[in-house]
Amino acid sequence: MTNCIFCKIRDGEIPSKFVYEDDYCFAINDINPKAKKHILVIPKAHVESLNHVEDSLLIANLFEAIKKINKQENITHFKTHINTGASAGQEVMHLHIHILAN
Ligand code: 5GP
Ligand code: ZN
Repeated sequence: MTNCIFCKIRDGEIPSKFVYEDDYCFAINDINPKAKKHILVIPKAHVESLNHVEDSLLIANLFEAIKKINKQENITHFKTHINTGASAGQEVMHLHIHILAN
């Protein structure tokens, strides 16, 4: 998807350090962290939001990744957060799960 920040990060057009990557998703530190650790878990496929998910296996894959990321980052207590739709606070229209840990 052209003009999507997360697609550009996925493709290396906007340089960003991946804290995790697998076949389905990648994870980056949020540029504007709202917790001591604030990680975004992003599917590689451009899916606009949770409302646009066609195969729920994608969600399972993202949460399996979250378990691995948390183990890697020594995160045991955390919140997950998904904003869906602009009026609910979604700014980037490419599905992502926030991991927030203090
Ligand atoms: P949303 O409000 O859409 O759920 O969350 C989007 C998140 O992406 C925000 O927390 C924002 O700080 C983060 N973000 C936006 N642009 C960039 C970027 O270019 N790099 C990184 N690492 N995070 C970004
Ligand atoms: Zn995208």
